[in-house]
Amino acid sequence: MFEDNLPKTSLSELGEFGLIDHLTRFVKTHQPTTHKGIGDDAAVINHEKEQSVITTDMLIEGVHFDLAYTPLKHLGYKAVMVNLSDVYAMNAQASQITVSIAVSNRFPVEALEELYAGITLACDTYKVDLIGGDTTSSRSGLVISITAIGQVQTDKVTYRSGAKPNDLLVVTGDLGAAFMGLKVLERENEVFKVNPNAQPDLEPYAYLVERQLKPEARKDIPQLLEALKVKPTSMIDISDGLSSEIIHLCRNAKVGANLFEEKIPLDPAVISVCEEFNIDSTTIALSGGEDYELLFTIDQNDYDKIKGNPNLTVIGHMTEEKEGMHLITRANQKIPIKARGWNSFEDANDKE
Ligand code: ADP
Ligand code: MG
Repeated sequence: MFEDNLPKTSLSELGEFGLIDHLTRFVKTHQPTTHKGIGDDAAVINHEKEQSVITTDMLIEGVHFDLAYTPLKHLGYKAVMVNLSDVYAMNAQASQITVSIAVSNRFPVEALEELYAGITLACDTYKVDLIGGDTTSSRSGLVISITAIGQVQTDKVTYRSGAKPNDLLVVTGDLGAAFMGLKVLERENEVFKVNPNAQPDLEPYAYLVERQLKPEARKDIPQLLEALKVKPTSMIDISDGLSSEIIHLCRNAKVGANLFEEKIPLDPAVISVCEEFNIDSTTIALSGGEDYELLFTIDQNDYDKIKGNPNLTVIGHMTEEKEGMHLITRANQKIPIKARGWNSFEDANDKE
C-alpha cells in the first residue's frame, strides 16, 4: 500500500549503496553482544557462555502478504515479529537480526522507507539490533527475508521434542484473532474493488485487524517462565494454527494429546465476528494461524506455579502416543486432531 501523498523517488536515483545507507541511517544498537553491525563484509557478535539460536523466515509478496491492504510499515514490523517469535519459542531472548530485501523498480524509495520504519520500530521496541542484510533487485514482487539471532542459557533451551505423557498443555494469550482480522481486511478489500468510494469501518474489528497487521511476539513469556521458575518441557510458536502446532509437539516427543474445546482462549471479538461470518470459532483457533502466541508443555508438578496467571491457559494434557491426538468438544465428543483442523476448513493456512 503506497500512500498516494508520498513523494516518489526512484530507486535508481540512490543506487544500491545509497539505498542501504539511506534505509539504515536511523539504525542504532541496543545489545552488548553486537560488536560490529552494518558496514563491513560481516557483522561481529560476541559470544559468552550462552547458546545462540538462529532462525530465518522469508515473506513473498502475493504469497504471504498483499500490499492492497498491508501498509508497508506494518509489513516491516510483522516480518520482524515472525522471526522473533521463533526465537522466543526456544525460550531464548532475541538480540540481533539481518534483513534481506529484493525489490522491483515499481517501489519508490519512500515505500522502502516505510518498510524500514516498521523494521526499526520493531527493533527499538524489542531491543534487537539490525546488524546487516542484503539488497537486490527483483523482477516482480517484494521479497523480505529476515534472520534472527538470540541467546539462551544452555539449561533453559526448549525444543519441540520434550513433552511427556501427563504434561500439561499451555497456551499464551488468545487465539484466532489474526485470522479473522485477515478475513475482515479481505472482505473490505472486495468491497473497495466494487466501490472505491466506500469507506471501510474497521472500528468494530480493531483488535482483530491489529492482531493481523501488527502482531506482537511474546518476548515476555521466556522472562515470565524464568520468574515463575518453570522450565517448559517443550515449546513452539503458533504460526500455522493450534492443531498443527499440537501435532508438531506430539510427533516430536512421540506422545498423544487431549485438547479441551471449552478451555481454548478466545477474545469476545473473535466469537462475535465468527458469528457474523458464520464460521465456528473453535475451527478458527485450531486452523487460523498467525497468532504468534506460544504453545508449551509443563510438568504437572509445575501447575501451582502458573495457576491463575492471566497470560497462560491450560488447554489440555499430553497422553501416551497410542492414545492419539484428540479434541474433546463441549458436548464431550472425542474428535481426532488433523493438521488442517478437525473439519472441512481446508484453506485456512495454505501459505507455510
Ligand atoms: P556485500 O557486498 O559484502 O554483500 P553489501 O554492499 O551488500 O555488502 O552490504 C553492505 C553492508 O550493508 C553490510 O554490512 C550489509 O550487511 C548491510 N546491508 C545490506 N543490505 C542491507 C539491508 N537491506 N538492510 C540492512 N543492512 C543491509
Ligand atoms: Mg550484499
